[in-house]
Amino acid sequence: PGIPEKVAIVQKAVEKNIPVISEIEFAYRFTDAKIIAITGSNGKTTTTSLIYDILHEAGLNVALAGNIGESFAYKVATEQHEYYVLELSSFQLDGIVNFKPYIAVLMNITPDHLDRYNYNFEKYTDSKFRIVLNQNEDDFFIYNADDEVINRYLSKNQINARKLSFSIKQNTANAFADENNFTLTYNQNLFEMETRQLALKGKHNRYNSLAAGLTAQVLDIRKSVIRSCLIDFKSIEHRLEPVLKIRDVWYINDSKATNVNSTWYALESMTKPTIWIAGGTDKGNDYSILRELVRKKVKALICLGIDNEKLKTAFNDIVPCFETRTMRDAVRAAYKLADKGDYVLLSPACASFDLFENYEDRGKQFKNEVRKL
Ligand code: ADP
Repeated sequence: PGIPEKVAIVQKAVEKNIPVISEIEFAYRFTDAKIIAITGSNGKTTTTSLIYDILHEAGLNVALAGNIGESFAYKVATEQHEYYVLELSSFQLDGIVNFKPYIAVLMNITPDHLDRYNYNFEKYTDSKFRIVLNQNEDDFFIYNADDEVINRYLSKNQINARKLSFSIKQNTANAFADENNFTLTYNQNLFEMETRQLALKGKHNRYNSLAAGLTAQVLDIRKSVIRSCLIDFKSIEHRLEPVLKIRDVWYINDSKATNVNSTWYALESMTKPTIWIAGGTDKGNDYSILRELVRKKVKALICLGIDNEKLKTAFNDIVPCFETRTMRDAVRAAYKLADKGDYVLLSPACASFDLFENYEDRGKQFKNEVRKL
């Protein structure tokens, strides 16, 4: 997935009619294992990790691969497993031919990486739906019933797999959770728990827990295992990760929020006045969907990027904006602005490549600077 199809060597291969496949397709040709594949714009890593955790706890011979940890091909070449839980990006799906997951999970579809799809949202949507391309009636497609883009696609296109839905708005979905109750119903088998018991907090994580729970139910995992994993799961680095509390201010690292939608969920889950650190490489962002939340929750915006103009213009009429170009300056500015009880949230809504090597580097630098305060 690191090699865009636009580069010369790939273009030359295409010109010569040499088949170009993704590493996922390549590895798939060498295994008969059952595959659970997760894609979407946001929540992939969290949901993939949660599913793996449940299957592993249940004692299945399962491995985690794809966009997370080691590659699928490396795993297939070096180990023997009966189940693979794969996190897949749209780029990995672009290069599949026969790849067929037993369970395909689609978290959501919101604009991201549009730069790689010539700013064409339809193309990006089609690319995500390639996950069901080769599925048949014996397979499962688990999807977010609250996602308008997914619903629109499903109303126009036939899917061969058995469809199961999850939702936080419609109690008719197979998996449903409101503020109080969390339920999974597959094959008239009912699983219930209280929503507040879930380890992962926030509305977005309710979706992730529902998708993971439903997948586990389809695989006939014991209820006690599903329950204990959903209750005990530890949050993942760089995803709304609490770092330190200093002078009664919590510092939260959400460096993995590389698009507007994931930042929306991060801001939505803030329950205290928030100093928000954002910015970086813009991927065609539309900041207007954040304005209402920013007005409600954000005390000050600290822009951290080489070019902060677009971000500043989007918000400077509703919150004070400050410009910084290093993580050290951003964290120090936040420290000065924060009062007791506030949150300082790094949730950039942008890629990191202007000032950092990647989002991990950005998150690590944030944590280091916080520890130095
Ligand atoms: P991905 O692997 O798709 O990038 P992650 O699980 O790593 O997703 O989460 C990335 C960021 O997206 C998190 O920091 C969080 O703020 C946000 N997020 C997580 N799950 C969801 C979801 N289901 N919907 C929207 N945003 C989410």
